[in-house]
Amino acid sequence: MKFHVLTLFPEMVLSGLRSSIIGRAAEKKLIAIDAVNIRDYTKERHGKVDDYPYGGGAGMLMQAQPVYDAWQAVTGGRKLRTVYLTPQGEPFTQKTAARLAGEEELVLICGHYEGIDERVLEETVTDFISIGDYVLTGGELAAMVVIDAVSRLVPGVLSNDASAETESFYNDLLEYPQYSRPEVWREKKVPDVLLSGDHRKIAAWRLEQSKERTRRIRPDLYEKYMDKERLICRLSKAKRENIHMIESLHRGKGEILYADEENVLLYDPGCRLCMISAKNREMGQKLLLLIPKDTVLFVTSQSFLNELICSGFSCEVYHECVQVCYPQRQSLPVRHKDIRLLGPEDAEYVITHYHMGEPEYIRERIQSRAMYGAFVEGELKGFVGSHDEGSMGMLFVEDSCRERGIGASLEAYNINRICERGFTPYAHIIVGNDVSLSLQRKLGLYASSGTIWWLGKKE
Ligand code: SAM
Repeated sequence: MKFHVLTLFPEMVLSGLRSSIIGRAAEKKLIAIDAVNIRDYTKERHGKVDDYPYGGGAGMLMQAQPVYDAWQAVTGGRKLRTVYLTPQGEPFTQKTAARLAGEEELVLICGHYEGIDERVLEETVTDFISIGDYVLTGGELAAMVVIDAVSRLVPGVLSNDASAETESFYNDLLEYPQYSRPEVWREKKVPDVLLSGDHRKIAAWRLEQSKERTRRIRPDLYEKYMDKERLICRLSKAKRENIHMIESLHRGKGEILYADEENVLLYDPGCRLCMISAKNREMGQKLLLLIPKDTVLFVTSQSFLNELICSGFSCEVYHECVQVCYPQRQSLPVRHKDIRLLGPEDAEYVITHYHMGEPEYIRERIQSRAMYGAFVEGELKGFVGSHDEGSMGMLFVEDSCRERGIGASLEAYNINRICERGFTPYAHIIVGNDVSLSLQRKLGLYASSGTIWWLGKKE
């Protein structure tokens, strides 16, 4: 991911982000930070970039021309998402970070003095973001905050991607208390449960602590968390049909845009995906009005919504699927023994053999530690993975290695890893792919009664 920071103080931004995890991510080229000096673009003499505000008032204002020309130079006419850091913006949250992490390039404009001429903001800015209800002298620190929070969501930046899944705000809960050695410090002992080695008990204790802390310190967040829990509970009455929405909420990916007893609209900002279910056509039409503009994918299991979305958003059906899930979450036997997490060196193999995803998407899935490979005598012969929104898929085994149970082993291995993380495995099998459906059934997955459609914007 590339950040272009338009600033009067490029060195401040670059030096602040040179160390530790973000510095290493830049060295590994997982992210790139391009700090552009707005002053280089002024047409005024002596590098002047500010002037008095019309109508009077305290302080100086950054002028439109140098900001606009710097922005033009960076974007080169491309429509890049452009953020102005301002105390007047939308408050920056973990959700905003997740949304921005979906961009390949992001422009960040830092103001100084009393701010920037409004006219250039109207011409260039797509998002106004504030990092809190206080006033800084310039936007540089705010841009650094945004870059830090967004970068750690870029696959591969954190050494263990699962850690972003347990941290504060991940699922509208604050993180539980943590302890390290020694076991006793100033007569304070680490809670017994953490020394028990019982992972289920530890997970349950941590969840309780997180809930208690959030309820006490951030009742606003706790209410959001409880709204999700109530919706999960309601959707669980038809678990096989709703598992995609349940898991999206459970894994902290989906946000509730609308929910009542009979209608649901969820939005996964990382995937720009809406999941929608409505009581009738009229309600469906109302829900469509709430869909964010940047949505590119839609999932629904109702044919009238399928039609409404296709006409309303000029979409087409990408896939018609049967939804399968594994609610019992018991560990499955894995017969083929050499199955491992795939690394960047395996990307070419997967790209050559899997034709339903762009190479960039496959590389991102591997970076996100979401793909496993089956090796035969040390050579990669097949793979499986999980998609960005959560469903399992991408199963492939070379012809020469079929009929040896390798496909079933890959599926079982993936299912076991998902269960270990406390999630329910599920998949969308394209209608007509009877071989895959019977494999899922053999492994113990249950199929939903109806079909589910994946829709996407026409190219
Ligand atoms: N006069 C402006 C106002 O009242 O909204 C404040 C200008 S401030 C002194 C200078 C610059 O710092 C702003 O243009 C903005 O880029 C940045 N800034 C200040 N506070 C910020 C905050 N809370 N979040 C994001 N950026 C901020």
